[in-house]
Amino acid sequence: MNKQETKNRIDKLKIEINHHRYLYHVLDKQEISDEALDSLKHELYSLEQENPEFITLDSPTQRIGGEPLDKFVKVSHETPMMSMEDAFNYTELADWETRISRILGHEPKDGYFCEMKMDGLAVSLIYEKGILARAVTRGDGQVGEDVTQNIKTIDSIPLNLKTESEKLKITTKNLNLISSRRFEVRGEIYLSKKEFERLNKEQAEKGLPLYANPRNIAAGSIRQLDSKVAASRKLDFNIYEMVSDLGLETHEDNFEFAKMLGFKINPNAKKLVNINQIEELFNSWQKKRAQLPYQVDGVVVKINNLVERIKLGSVGKAYRWEVAYKWPAEQVTTVLKDIIVQVGRTGTLTPVAVLEPVLVAGSVVSRATLHNEDEIHRKDVRIGDTVILQKAGDVIPEVVEPLVRLRPEGAKVWRMPKKCPICNSEVVKKEGEVAYKCSNLKCFSVMRRRIIHFVSKSAFDIEGMGPKIVDQLINVGLIKSAVDIFKITQDDLLPLERFAEKSSENLFESIANHKKISLERFIYALGIRMVGKELADDLAKQFGTLEKFRQASFDDINRMYGVAEKTANELFDWLANKGYQKFIDDLLNCGVKVLKYHSPIKANNLDGKLFVVTGTLPTLTREDAHKMIIQYGGSIGTAITGKTDYLIAGENAGSKLEKARRLNVEIISEDKILGMIK
Ligand SMILES: [Zn+2]
Repeated sequence: MNKQETKNRIDKLKIEINHHRYLYHVLDKQEISDEALDSLKHELYSLEQENPEFITLDSPTQRIGGEPLDKFVKVSHETPMMSMEDAFNYTELADWETRISRILGHEPKDGYFCEMKMDGLAVSLIYEKGILARAVTRGDGQVGEDVTQNIKTIDSIPLNLKTESEKLKITTKNLNLISSRRFEVRGEIYLSKKEFERLNKEQAEKGLPLYANPRNIAAGSIRQLDSKVAASRKLDFNIYEMVSDLGLETHEDNFEFAKMLGFKINPNAKKLVNINQIEELFNSWQKKRAQLPYQVDGVVVKINNLVERIKLGSVGKAYRWEVAYKWPAEQVTTVLKDIIVQVGRTGTLTPVAVLEPVLVAGSVVSRATLHNEDEIHRKDVRIGDTVILQKAGDVIPEVVEPLVRLRPEGAKVWRMPKKCPICNSEVVKKEGEVAYKCSNLKCFSVMRRRIIHFVSKSAFDIEGMGPKIVDQLINVGLIKSAVDIFKITQDDLLPLERFAEKSSENLFESIANHKKISLERFIYALGIRMVGKELADDLAKQFGTLEKFRQASFDDINRMYGVAEKTANELFDWLANKGYQKFIDDLLNCGVKVLKYHSPIKANNLDGKLFVVTGTLPTLTREDAHKMIIQYGGSIGTAITGKTDYLIAGENAGSKLEKARRLNVEIISEDKILGMIK
């Protein structure tokens, strides 16, 4: 993006984010998920960091929260309710640790306190002389709303504090502070997953729209004028901060103290001594989080020592002493680059979104199904749109909706093509059905068979690409012709079932390593009718190079020994077909390299000689070089020894070259060995 484009993008993002902020904070409505909104904010934040001249005072990154509605009494917070800095990966966490250690001049004395980041609604609770006096929502961080009546309906919030305790840590002085003064704590109101499901079931029975997530219900309940609504929902509360100074040394002490006063604290909160331990905790909860009875989106990491916190202070709207370490979002925004069509086993044509690769729920996604044309029109998804992408658990990634205000000008409504993109047959749609089908009943099976043939042992010989994998790659829309095989990236494979990091790497390498191919294998791989392995060999021998083969005339072919006229006709028709010639061009453009024909005539030029091959040879693959040497009577060694006759060295030859020099083994090039067998 140039400067002007960047500024336009920033302006559009600001309007978009502000729109969602208003809906969410002021009207209690939500059009897109927090995660999707976070993703937009993150993009805006990054663009502004790179182009600070475009930061304006009204940017959503420069403020938090929204204006309270007039229906509740507004209350100023004595201590502002800050927002929290986010860390999305270990590097960002480590950067945070470096920053705070630099300011402190040492590592935190009492380590870190880690708490689950509840997906709920933050409130401030004021106790006067030990009695709950007021509960205030966060609002814009400075001014919130008095929601005391609703808060009182939550059973886990104490209405008066237990000031009778025998625990040693509570000194008389501490207790006096509580019972004589105003005392503030903060925590999160949330709803269990179970209660969320119960309420949604109720909604469904009444024919009402479903709630998007538990946090929405919690927020909606707290901001109801009629407290009966809040009372009917089993809201819960966890304390996360003691705001008033009780004279204790650490946050951990405060937590213990809060527990004794009767507050509910999250049982998974714990003190850790370094960020490696935090990383371990973070990773283990990432795996277990689905089993928790409530929703969490990360781990809040806080400096434990309270004096150090004062020294660290705040920057902008956030405290320096805490950071929200968040798990990968399950909803992100990305750009829809194209819509392609894949054909299924029954001939059904399914549109697939080609996306700007993006990390979602821990994996990179570049494709997502769009189901059918009706669905695309219902969601109004267009090429060029910024879309919300969702990946929940193991479910296939899905395009949720486009962000219409970010749409580029002139983006057209997408239509199913009239001709099948695989076989060019007519596309048909039956009355009353949503799916389009290719009218050619054999469409899918022909494509599938062609691809399986193309990668088979005698053709391109791509390991790790058996029929099951071919089916899978077709089903997710990654390949619809052999050319697509060479366009696959590792990012495409990683999100797929059966493709752990190692196996996707293996397949990717296997494809890359087989781009160089002998002429006879290549001709066989093309899958021309009546051209089996033997004829492919003969053709390679006859024409020598791919260029000559491609330009062969009918007579050239017909003249060949053992080729029937019918076969010659078939082959010539194939070569005369522009589509097939383009297929060859496409393969070459994807980096496929077809080698000149080398005569495999059995000879004994290399009889009794021991060869070692090292490095990358200019034209031969390692495998082909080995085969050739054996064919001519030589043998192959794996290591250089005194018995080695020749080392064939290509580019990037390593230790073997050194050793050959030391042992006076003759070092030769590929040209030399090709000369030796002539
Ligand atoms: Zn078709």
